[in-house]
This record gives sequence, C-alpha cells and structure tokens, in this order.
Amino acid sequence: MTTPVPQIKLNSGASIPQLGFGVFLVDPADTQRVVEDALEVGYRHIDTATGYNNEKEVGAALRASGIPRDQIFLTTKLRNDHHKAGDVQGAFSRSLDALGLDYIDLYLIHWPMPANERYVDTWHAFEGFAADGRAKSIGVSNFLIPHLEKLLSETDVVPAVNQVELHPIFQQRELRKFHAEHGIHTEAWGPLGQGKYELFTLPAIQDAAKAHDVQPAQVVLRWHLQTGNIVIPKLNHRARMAQNFDVFGFELSDDEMAAIDALDENRRVGGNPAEVN
Ligand code: NDP
Repeated sequence: MTTPVPQIKLNSGASIPQLGFGVFLVDPADTQRVVEDALEVGYRHIDTATGYNNEKEVGAALRASGIPRDQIFLTTKLRNDHHKAGDVQGAFSRSLDALGLDYIDLYLIHWPMPANERYVDTWHAFEGFAADGRAKSIGVSNFLIPHLEKLLSETDVVPAVNQVELHPIFQQRELRKFHAEHGIHTEAWGPLGQGKYELFTLPAIQDAAKAHDVQPAQVVLRWHLQTGNIVIPKLNHRARMAQNFDVFGFELSDDEMAAIDALDENRRVGGNPAEVN
C-alpha cells in the first residue's frame, strides 16, 4: 500500500516513518489486537520497550499482519534494571527472542541513569549491535545535553535519535537545537501530553482545529510533523487510530504554528532524566 507518512533519513542511512505508534501502557492482553489494528489503519512504525512487558505480543501482531518485515520499522528499548546490571548483551538477545525477530530497526537506551555511570559502556555494546547488523540503527532516550556530549566525546557512533518527552507545553528548544547541530533526530514521546494537560481545550489548538475542520489531537500531531519531530502517539481505540493517522490532508499556517509555539511552559509531565536512576 502507498503511505502518506514521510520517511526521515537517519544518520545510520536507514529511514524511519515520521509518524509511528507507541504501546506504552497497552495491556499485554490487548497488545496484539491493538498493534494489528494500528497496522491495518496504516501505521508501519511501532514503538515498544522491554519495560512495557508487551514485546512478545507486538511480535505476534507483526507476524499475524503478514506485512513483509522490511516494510515495518520496529523500535524497542533497553530496560533500566538490565542497563543498571550491565546485562546489555543478554537483554538485547531476549528482546529479539520475545519479538521473534532477527533484527531490530532501532534499539534505544531507555534512560541514561547518570548516577550509575554506565551509559558510555552500554553505548559501546550498542555499537556492537549496529556493527553486527542486529540493530539497523541505535539511539538513546531521555538523554540531556551533558549526557549526549559525553557520548559524542567518548564513543564513535552518533545516536540516530534521542526520544524525549516533547509536546506543546514542553517543547525542548535547546535540546532540539543541539540535536540539529549533531545530526541526531528528535523523537517525541508523550506527544499529546499523555492526556495530563487540557491541551485539547487551549484556544491556539481549538482555533486551528475549527479552521481546518479536524480534531485538536490532529492539530497537535500536525504541529509535531511540521516542527520536524518523529512522533509516536499511543491509542487503544481503533477509531482514534485512524484519526491520528489522518494528519496529511491539511497544513497549519505560520500563524497557527506560532500560536502553538507560544504555549511552551518548559514543564514536564514525566520524570527528570537527571533524577531517574
Ligand atoms: P501520548 O501523548 O501519546 O498520550 C496518550 C494518551 O492520549 C492516551 O490516554 C490516549 O487515549 C490519548 N489519545 C491519543 N490520541 C487521542 C485522540 N485523537 N483524542 C483523544 N485522546 C487521544 O502519551 P504516551 O506516553 O503514550 O506517549 C506515546 C508513546 O511514546 C508511548 O506509547 C511510548 O511508545 C513512548 N514513550 C516513551 C517514553 C520513554 O521514556 N522513552 C516514555 C513514555 C512514552 P487512550 O487511553 O484511549 O489510548
């Protein structure tokens, strides 16, 4: 099938669909159905993690879909306790087994956990996964600028992405600038604010939704896409999966983008990566 989703070229040479589908907090009992629905709607980029306890069900959905492996982009992440224990090789192999795959498109360090001082060693192991082809791209998640600077100065491979909390209330301007200067792509988690803000009722978002005859969530996703972010909204319900996928038939004007840019309060909903250890 042809897809309207733009592909973004990563520094590894691989391409990632700019709009994907996240499965954080999707119950393992529901995951296969949810991911099969998402694939039927047209998503070809699925974001999971060992810590979500649903890799096995994601893998089952990929197989059940019958979609050729090379048409799906699959991300998973090293769980914090495996990272902390230095169990990186074992954790990666177990992820491949659980997913039933022989390679992962993008493998991420889930959190830097700076107090443990392991992320440089962990990254060396990740460089090995990229070299032997079992990870087509490697990246990080929740890294702050000092963590990225340390990786850039002490290791060889530049992370393909940094997946971080990012939404109109927490726009990560300084980090995005750093990424752009170093060839790292910005991937937004919690792109809709995890439903913890009344994002959808804010006038800048409501006005744009009315002007384009779309839902507020579609406006927020469109803002991410036009900002250049890779974006992975999560959903349980199929009707809204189609809504969140239907974001390529309209474009926000410069004024509408500026009004959403002005919502930034530099405020997180999730943990501060400096303090998650
Ligand atoms: P999101 O910002 O995607 O918000 C998800 C919530 O928004 C859910 O409650 C969902 O509803 C609701 N929602 C989605 N679409 C709509 C819509 N069109 N209208 C109304 N409500 C909507 O938060 P997530 O935390 O899930 O982030 C997305 C993904 O990012 C995760 O699934 C995961 O893959 C990744 N992530 C990564 C992290 C990291 O540390 N690297 C941390 C957190 C997330 P419903 O309840 O119906 O599904």
